Amino acid sequence: MFENLQEKLQRAFKNLRGQGTVSEENISEALREIRLALLESDVNLNVTKDLIEHIREKALGQQVATALSPTEQVIKIIHGELVELLGRDTARFKFASQPPSVILMAGLQGSGKTTTTGKLAQWLKKGGHRPMLVSVDVYRPAAREQLAVVAKSIGTQLYTGNVGADEAGTPLVLRLAKEAKRDAANFGCDILLVDTAGRLGIDEELMGEMSELKKLLNPSEILFVADAMTGQDAVNSAKAFHDRLGITGVVLTKMDGDARGGAALSIRQVTGAPVKFIGTGEKPDAFEPFHPDRIVSRIMG
Ligand code: GDP
Repeated sequence: MFENLQEKLQRAFKNLRGQGTVSEENISEALREIRLALLESDVNLNVTKDLIEHIREKALGQQVATALSPTEQVIKIIHGELVELLGRDTARFKFASQPPSVILMAGLQGSGKTTTTGKLAQWLKKGGHRPMLVSVDVYRPAAREQLAVVAKSIGTQLYTGNVGADEAGTPLVLRLAKEAKRDAANFGCDILLVDTAGRLGIDEELMGEMSELKKLLNPSEILFVADAMTGQDAVNSAKAFHDRLGITGVVLTKMDGDARGGAALSIRQVTGAPVKFIGTGEKPDAFEPFHPDRIVSRIMG
């Protein structure tokens, strides 16, 4: 994760450290290298431009009277700006004052939504919660079956409900969701995770269904699951989804792949919604909260 970016930034820092003093010229040279490193890692162009400008302003206007050397000060500024970019307080997870809290899971097909629903349930279980799962993807029976397998493998409550032969579409989705919330309360489950229908793209009909689910369930979290390997496409779909529905956060999956990290660094600024968790593999425990400060330390090496 981020190895490529880390290597390139290290090179820029090494060159900067090699300079005796920090002049406007060698800051410019370092910033040029950092800009290139970010763009090559598929960070959004506007995000990169803004970031470089902020770093330049701060680096040139810095006070010299500190214990750090001028180059260390510049590196510290870059660290601070990256943390700012990712958002300082993103790892916070909201719960409803009155259980069960509802978490709506949304995402494009194949993004890892169902796998992530299981991972999140397991993470919540470890934190002392009693989650219940429900799939309202009535369009693909295999999707509901997949969630049942996931629920069984991690030992979590699952609401399946009965589906009549003449039932379909949004009315069925809403009925299942409503029953699941009631069932969660009856079973003493404090959290209901709702795995919604996977989309091929941002499709109006399913977005309408999402809005109705939101109105019905009053979720404390709406998480958009995005595949980090798809880079800027992940950023754009998260933005479209957020503009239309208002999400509370993003889960970036497949961070273990050769994703260049651009999505992770761009999403917060482009969409306004923070990355809250990352998926780092196929197993249920390959999942962690996204801590901007730790991630930036990892990137900066
Ligand atoms: P959905 O269609 O969005 O529900 O996607 P799935 O949950 O079925 O996941 C699609 C594929 O991505 C599956 O093969 C998962 O095992 C895989 N997957 C999900 N999350 C991760 C991850 O963080 N890392 C890796 N390497 N694979 C993942």
